[in-house]
Parts: sequence; C-alpha cells; structure tokens
Amino acid sequence: MLMTGEQYIESLRKLKTRVYMFGEKVDNWVDHPIIRPSINSVAMTYELAHDPQYEDLMTAKSNLTGEKVNRFSHLHQSTEDLVKKVKMQRLLGQKTASCFQRCVGMDAFNAVYSTTYEMDKKYGTNYHERFVEYLKYVQTEDLTVDGAMTDPKGDRSKAPSAQEDKDLYLRIVEKREDGIVVRGAKCHQTGSINSHEHLVMPTIAMREEDKEYAVCFAVPSDAEGLFMIYGRQSCDTRKLEEGADIDVGNKKFGGQEALVVFDDVFVPNDRVFMCEEWDFAGMLVERFAGYHRQSYGGCKVGVGDVLIGAAALAADYNGVSRASHVKDKLIEMTHLNETLYCCGIACSSEGYPTEAGNYQIDLLLANVCKQNVTRFPYEIVRLAEDIAGGLMVTMPSEQDFRSDLKVGKNGETIGDICNKYLVGAPVATTEERMRVLRLIENLALGTAAVGYRTESMHGAGSPQAQRIMIARQGNIEAKKELAKVIAGIKKD
Ligand code: SF4
Ligand code: FE
Repeated sequence: MLMTGEQYIESLRKLKTRVYMFGEKVDNWVDHPIIRPSINSVAMTYELAHDPQYEDLMTAKSNLTGEKVNRFSHLHQSTEDLVKKVKMQRLLGQKTASCFQRCVGMDAFNAVYSTTYEMDKKYGTNYHERFVEYLKYVQTEDLTVDGAMTDPKGDRSKAPSAQEDKDLYLRIVEKREDGIVVRGAKCHQTGSINSHEHLVMPTIAMREEDKEYAVCFAVPSDAEGLFMIYGRQSCDTRKLEEGADIDVGNKKFGGQEALVVFDDVFVPNDRVFMCEEWDFAGMLVERFAGYHRQSYGGCKVGVGDVLIGAAALAADYNGVSRASHVKDKLIEMTHLNETLYCCGIACSSEGYPTEAGNYQIDLLLANVCKQNVTRFPYEIVRLAEDIAGGLMVTMPSEQDFRSDLKVGKNGETIGDICNKYLVGAPVATTEERMRVLRLIENLALGTAAVGYRTESMHGAGSPQAQRIMIARQGNIEAKKELAKVIAGIKKD
C-alpha cells in the first residue's frame, strides 16, 4: 500500500523513537517546529507518488512482489530505472528546496541486495534471502528506511580495532543463538528520526582484525537501546520564533541529521545481513557510496534550480535583471547546475547489472559527479549572493516589518520605515523582496545550507574519497597505451 504524505506523518506517531535536542528529551518530535519541516520533506516523497503527473518517476513495479511500489524502495532493474531515480531526485529537490532524506535508504537497499548475493555465493550464508524478505516488508508497508553508514571514526589514523575506545566504530559486542548485540554510533545520519527503520552498514573496508566491525543489519528506529541526538543547523532557532515565516526562508521544508547511538541493541538473526564477513565490507561501502554519489547529481540539481530561480527573482526585484553581467551570472549558474545533472544522468545511463540482477551505476562517472558537487554548488551560491546583494544578511527581522511601534517624527512605525527604505523595483512588494532574499540566505547560510552547501562537500564522502575512486577507476595504463600508439612508441 502506498501511503499518502499524511498517512506517513501519522505512522511516525506510532513509533517510540527516543530523540534528544538542546539537552532534553523531545516527546512529541513529530510536531516539533525544528523537526517538522524535515518530516514534511519526506512526506513529499509519499505525496508525489499519488500525483498522476509524477507517477512514472515516483513509482515502479517491484521485481520482488510484482506490485507498484514507491521508487524510494525499488531495486533498479535497468539503466532506465537509474535515470528515473535521478530525475525523481531533481523533482523532489525542486519541490522541497532541501534534503528529502529518503534516498539513503534506497541507496542502501540496492547496495545490500547485490552485496549479500555475492557474499552468500562465497560463504554459503543466507543473507540475501533474509534481505529480500526484509525489503518485501519495506515495500509492502511503504516504509522510510535510514541507510546508516558513517561511524564517528575517532583517530582517523587508526583502524577500527586499533582505536583506544572500541565503540568509535559500530561493532558486534555479543553473538547469541537468536541474533547479535551491537554497540556504537552513526554520525550525521540524514533523516534518522523520521525513518521507520534503520539499515546499518559498515563505514570502511575492513581487515580480518576488524571483523567484529563488519556488520550490516536492520532495526526499527525505536528499537530498545537506540536513541538519537538531533543535529543543529545554522539559524535553526528561528523556527522557534512565534509566527516564524519569512525569516526562516523556507517555511515548510527542511533536512535533518542526527547522531544515532546504538547502546547495546539486539538484532534478531532475520535482520542480520552481514556478520563478520570483513572482506565484503569494502564492496558494500563502495556500492552504497557510488549510488549516493549518483544521487547528488539529482537532488542538488533540483535545489540548485530553486536557488537559480530565487537569484533571478532577486535580480527582478532589485531592478537589475537587464544588466548583462547579471544575465551572464544566471547563465553560469545554469551551466554549472546542468553539468551536475549531466553527470547524474551519465553515470546512470552507463549502469550495468550486478550478479544479483539489480543495476549498478558507472562508478567512475558517479565519483566524477560527486567531485563536481563538492565544487559547483559553492560557485552557484557565490553567484546567488552576488546577485542578491548584502541585504540578504543585513535586513531587519520579520518582527520589525510587522511592528507598529511608532518611531518616526510623523508617527511612522518600524514597519513603515522598513517598508519605505527596503523597497526595490515596483514589480514586487517589500515583503516579496524580503521573502526571496531570506530564501537565498536559507540555502546559502541557513538551515538548508547543511543540505545544499556543506553536504555537497562531505555527504556521500568527502572530496578525497572520490579522488581515490577516480584514481582506481581512471585506467591511466590504458590511456598510456593510447598515447604510445599515436606517438609511434613501440616498447611495452
Ligand atoms: Fe537524498 Fe540528496 Fe538528501 Fe542524500 S542529500 S538523502 S541524495 S536529498
Ligand atoms: Fe546526503
């Protein structure tokens, strides 16, 4: 059954997920003003699936059940599926102007599905079958699952087992007949609070001495021993202001990250998909990261579309839209944004089937995609700030615009003064100009900057992680051979 946005939000109320923020427990996290916008973003992934206009992008036929499922829980069956995934992410970026969080689960499903298949082939285990059963449950119930990979990692120069505090990488602390007990944490987990389930994967390739850290499993988000500490975002407390609207920049939508703690969590055997098979940790990481690097060629582009639109509106409202340098800046922003999209589409079109049958992206192109994402959104933001002007960060607050405190010699209120002096071209009211500038601020420096800027740098792996993959996949030796042939060099 495909849930509606409202049904999804209501389904969260049934969970007993433990959430802490600002040093306190948050009981009603579904309606919390800081958290709710991120729930609304995920709700859009449900809502759009019911819109006939987007059905083709938002839904797919499950290869497991034969039923129509939300694409966020689908196993890609073709390069066409991979392309549609990127298009769906661009669409959602456009509709939410934020991170809509559900992709980490989708990317995890596809990576775990193919890796468990190959693991079983080598070890005769039955992880793949267990995972298929689990995914059928997820698809049928239309659940949001948080794909959780990044461990705290402590001293980066040391392997998991060499850390002074053994918990700095998530690990198996007990193996029982009926399951395992895990301890550790996952950092900056996108969409963890508002996911029904967590699908946990190892964070790096492992050696044999690290085998207790080679673990993959799924648990409900309210499993015993599991709790989350909400990540704060720049300007987040603006959402707590009474009647918060204009100053938050994007009133309805947002992203969400948290520190997710596994304080000795029991996982029953049927939810364990890797248990000490250390030599497959690297494959799982590489595949998940590859899919998520593809994802950025969709979601960031969609958010970029909103930012470019906002910059163009700001130019209109400032009365500068006819200036040739402004037009050129919008062209440059578009060029950069579409280049990212090209990368997302290219690594999808060049995808190939895994041994398990689902489709994998082209790893080199996906890594090039994400490497560009570590740069271009920064330049797009720079140009948007250039066009917007300094007012986006110096403007008085919404309360000032609304204030009827008389301060002028002729009885003008603070609101009157703000309206008089902060007006732009006659195509827009002062409030409209404020709204668009606050949206740019939100994307460049505010709560959405987590998803659009810094996450562009570090999400799905920091730039150096992609450069390592590019080095591995770039095939310099074959290129040397090409050069030798053209240059007439005969030696091997
Ligand atoms: Fe999806 Fe992008 Fe958010 Fe990752 S950063 S979860 S790909 S919207
Ligand atoms: Fe991300």
